[in-house]
Amino acid sequence: MDTPLTMIPRASVLIVDDMAANIQLLAEVLNAEYRVRVANHGAKALEIARSSTPPDLILLDIMMPGMDGYEVCQQLKEDPATSAIPVIFVTAKDSVDDEAYGLNIGAVDYIAKPFHLPVVRARVKTHVNLKLKTDLLENLAMIDGLTYIPNRRRFDQLLSQEWDRACREGHALTLAMIDVDHFKAYNDHYGHGAGDDCLRQVATALNDSLRRPGDFVARYGGEEFAMLLPNTDDPGACTTAERARQAVFDKHLPHAHSSVTDRVTVSIGVASTAPRTPHAEILLKAADEALYAAKHGGRNRCECRRL
Ligand code: GH3
Ligand code: MG
Ligand code: MG
Repeated sequence: MDTPLTMIPRASVLIVDDMAANIQLLAEVLNAEYRVRVANHGAKALEIARSSTPPDLILLDIMMPGMDGYEVCQQLKEDPATSAIPVIFVTAKDSVDDEAYGLNIGAVDYIAKPFHLPVVRARVKTHVNLKLKTDLLENLAMIDGLTYIPNRRRFDQLLSQEWDRACREGHALTLAMIDVDHFKAYNDHYGHGAGDDCLRQVATALNDSLRRPGDFVARYGGEEFAMLLPNTDDPGACTTAERARQAVFDKHLPHAHSSVTDRVTVSIGVASTAPRTPHAEILLKAADEALYAAKHGGRNRCECRRL
């Protein structure tokens, strides 16, 4: 049976070279430790790098027919989706000027041919480990420390990404702002520690209420959460928000000092639009206004707006 350790996916390395013999030699050295993929021209390398399973490191030949390694590297570094993949040039161009040029366009290292295989293995290991640690830190920086759901930073990033995608593809996008009702009174009565526990439970309820893989909820700040529903318009958006509100209600978290009822509730402001302008702020503003209306309408309710 697999132990959890053996189930951790291996790091993957992409070898790009127009000479099959070079690919074979490098693959033989790296196969034991990495998932090795190969490309014998630049366009194929870019295709693999931009796929949904990009490599953790690219070993890139410079002299190739058609698109050369410098151009492949430049295109990788210009695209935010691939710019973080470390590139090591493996090349017969071994002057210091060539090396400086390669490093200046964004490569992390430079290995001269004919290569000494133990050096290749050692350098690959160093850069793969660095990449995995950077990925780990970046992921941690996107998680809220109290509730362990994504934080405001991740939300801002995703809102901008999904807004651009919706503009491009002509799809609708929905944003829901969610605020715990009378939470100051909850803290005052039960204490700040219990307040923290309550926020964790609310986060879990909201997260568990989502149904579609692209749907997303983050802690926006304090006792406020934000939900993003790509490709979703009225009335689906209202149904999802209503399910989230009900999920918190169904947790039966006692709240002795709420004017609404005897348990913890949330108010939700929902805004949907098919984006056409470059700025997502109008969606945030509309969701905030809807949230204000939900509070003034008596709390523990959803208010939906269509822009
Ligand atoms: P409303 O129904 O109008 O939203 O009233 P409210 O009391 O929820 O709103 P208000 O903005 O007055 O109070 C929010 C409270 O949330 C005050 C603040 O101490 C508390 N809070 C914010 N972040 C945290 C947190 O991380 N932990 C705890 N325990 N409390 C928090
Ligand atoms: Mg608030
Ligand atoms: Mg509140």
